[in-house]
Amino acid sequence: MKHKYIAKRFWKDYHTAMSSSYELARKFDDCINLSLGDPDLITDSRIIKAAMDDALAGHTKYTDFRGDPELRRAIREYYRDDLGVDVADEEIMVSCACMAMNLALQAVLDPGDEVIIHAPYYTQYPQQIELAYGVPVVLDTLEEEDFQVNVERLEALITERTKAIVINSPNNPTGSCFTPETMQRILAVAQKYDLVIISDEIYSLYSFSSPFMSMLQVEGARKRTIVINSFSKDYTMTGWRIGHIIAPDFLINAIRQISEKVIFTYPSISQRAALYALEHRHEIQPAMREEYKSRVFYAARRINQIPHMSVLDPKGTFYLFFNIKETGLSSAEVSSRILQEAHVLTLPGSAFGDCGEGYIRIACTVGVDKLAEAFDRIGRMDIFR
Ligand code: PLP
Repeated sequence: MKHKYIAKRFWKDYHTAMSSSYELARKFDDCINLSLGDPDLITDSRIIKAAMDDALAGHTKYTDFRGDPELRRAIREYYRDDLGVDVADEEIMVSCACMAMNLALQAVLDPGDEVIIHAPYYTQYPQQIELAYGVPVVLDTLEEEDFQVNVERLEALITERTKAIVINSPNNPTGSCFTPETMQRILAVAQKYDLVIISDEIYSLYSFSSPFMSMLQVEGARKRTIVINSFSKDYTMTGWRIGHIIAPDFLINAIRQISEKVIFTYPSISQRAALYALEHRHEIQPAMREEYKSRVFYAARRINQIPHMSVLDPKGTFYLFFNIKETGLSSAEVSSRILQEAHVLTLPGSAFGDCGEGYIRIACTVGVDKLAEAFDRIGRMDIFR
């Protein structure tokens, strides 16, 4: 909004498709909301109880600037035991994923530095980069290439100002998971041009087609990689606003200093919840993972049975990005008609970058019964006959 009290750089509209989802979902009483990546399952009650107990035991204060030392220890053990990566304590910082991206970008970018993001992208990335005075540069990924990063096209985008590349696998919105070869090739480009890799790995639990691979597991990546992870999706803890960053110690040091000025420390109670979650992940996560996996595979099957829409085999996350090009309509039009006629709220692919045109994203954050109802209704629409 343009107002003399508001800094000029915010006169531009920072509205995203996500922002209007809540209002749209209220339009119809029987609306099935498949638009937002907020898991419907609430946080496991054992985690909630542990956090409450810890709050009563006195964990209600500021914590260490890099996070509760016990949580940092558990994060370290997770990387060592589950991913075979030996991370030093000085390379860990507790944060929250959205905030972590902002801090990482602030730490890395000088004004005007370019950051490559692959599209379709998480809708916040371009503006997150701009807020840190950077310039987003978009690399399209294509369904024909399984939405993998094509390194020839990546290399063609690099200029003197390129400072970093943001990658996200398992990916929101496409659900694609980068192969080890893709990860190695991205690293090779980053090494050739001395770029920082910011790897958003917040869907690490939901890698279905192959075991999850962190950029930290790619040999030679550690010294230029900032990993961002979160408890939001992997433990259905979106409201706790907690996650972590792994990066070389000099970067963590810079990030910590910025973080201190912005937020001082992170919520102590959420950190205790995260500690319990990590320490009990083998009891808590398998059922959640299976639930989302079965929904995604069910929805993909239904999509592929409806004329004029199709989707690749699910690879990861709880999103599906399906192709509606055969309808001959824009993704905004299809999404709007699905809402008006079937009372199902989806997001148009164009919200995730220009190359998302021709696609619709759904989040499988309702159970199979509701998904069945949603696809029954969509299947009755004229445009899908
Ligand atoms: N990165 C991606 C790819 C996401 O999809 C999201 C949330 O949907 C975030 C980051 C933000 O995560 P958090 O809610 O943990 O800050």
